[in-house]
Amino acid sequence: MSSQWDRKDALAMLQCRRRRSARALSPLCSVSMRPDLTITTIKQDPYTMSKGSQMEGYCMDLLSELAKKLDFKYNVHLVKDGFYGRQDETGAWNGMIGEVVRKEADLAIAPLTLTAAREKVVGMTKPFMQTGISILLRKDISEEAGIFDFLTPFSVETWVGILAAYLGTAISICVVARLSPCEWSQPQTEENSFTFSHSLWYTAGALTLQGAGPHPKALSGRIICCTWWLFGLVLLACYFSNLSTSQGSDSNQLMVKGFEDLANQQGIEYGTLSGSSTLAFFKNSNNPTYRRIYEHMERAKSFVSSMDEGVRRAKEGNFAFIGESVSLDLVVARHCELVRVHEVIGMRGYSIAGTLGSPMLKNLSVAILELSEAGELAYLRSKWWASSCMADAAKASPLQPHSLKGMFLVLALGLGLGVLLAVLELTTKSRSNAREQRKSYCTVLSDELSQRLKTPATNKKRSQETADKDKA
Ligand code: GLU
Repeated sequence: MSSQWDRKDALAMLQCRRRRSARALSPLCSVSMRPDLTITTIKQDPYTMSKGSQMEGYCMDLLSELAKKLDFKYNVHLVKDGFYGRQDETGAWNGMIGEVVRKEADLAIAPLTLTAAREKVVGMTKPFMQTGISILLRKDISEEAGIFDFLTPFSVETWVGILAAYLGTAISICVVARLSPCEWSQPQTEENSFTFSHSLWYTAGALTLQGAGPHPKALSGRIICCTWWLFGLVLLACYFSNLSTSQGSDSNQLMVKGFEDLANQQGIEYGTLSGSSTLAFFKNSNNPTYRRIYEHMERAKSFVSSMDEGVRRAKEGNFAFIGESVSLDLVVARHCELVRVHEVIGMRGYSIAGTLGSPMLKNLSVAILELSEAGELAYLRSKWWASSCMADAAKASPLQPHSLKGMFLVLALGLGLGVLLAVLELTTKSRSNAREQRKSYCTVLSDELSQRLKTPATNKKRSQETADKDKA
């Protein structure tokens, strides 16, 4: 059938060229000559799925776009043996590749990986999707929670920043409470309630929403407190939201974080799709870790016959399914109890396979590139990969200082404004005192400053002396 079509295709193209017909890339130029192609595919979410007697999915949409572009008709059937395509010891191919080799199908449109071995026996187009190999497992197969896991919502730099902000605020409150005459009107007789230790206590109480009075009376001190309260609120909100996300979906806590961990443990069984290109990757690899993984899978015969079976076994627990990351991402998005490790190896692409040497393949490759450049492939990807637990699957990472920079900036502005106001309050009071006492403004101000900035002990001694003098 395919060879028949090849001849027809070539002839029609020749005629089209001669007549300088409209579509240069189309294999055929008139509707009456539209070829009827036999397409083989495999059932896999979201590439090809049954919808009543019809089929739908990413690959079906891609096929219809290509048919529109290249002007062909098609009949789709599911691959008879349910395999992608692997060569046995006798050199025969099974699966979709086998059907194309035996010319039972003109094209195979599926998440079919482009490999060197396949490229030798069939023609393959430019990839329409890129992927790699990764591991799927249940979220709860994780390491025991660490003692300091409560610190994970923020990065080390952020914690250091928070500590600096805390100390800076406590110092500012302490300084402002001393400088401001509205806060501390009688430095000679009155004790300042905002000692450094009380300022530290007050700031910590506000951060943990516990409160620790007395509160500042002056506007300058109140501005600092308000900014600190705001900072504390935002900080706590970020902390709790990141804490729940990191405990819910972060794969950092997984016992198996990559292929090295998988190869080095015995507790979790693992396997891949039988007859798949993923299995061939491990079999042909020279990397000792990947070889160990292959040898283990061969020994344990831990292969699964379909992606669905792999997902089912991973959901049951104690089984890690090794598959292609793009497909695993969809599974993770649909089954929230599953997670994919971050490590991705063996980058590869999905291509359409056709009869070796078919002129149609060149046109298909061009059409795929055109669809990619026009954003059609990205649109199809978002259409079929949208899911209910995508938000959950978003990776939670410790918040870095730059993500909280607005919050730190507001606090710094608040502290600056508070200190400025306290200085203003002091200078205004010194000016009016200087006018009243007919002294120079600078003398009054320096007197005020020396009184206010003296240590509490000196102030106490001084007030004692004043009291004794009064008594005498
Ligand atoms: N896309 C693969 C193939 O073409 C099947 C899935 C897998 O290898 O995990 O063989």
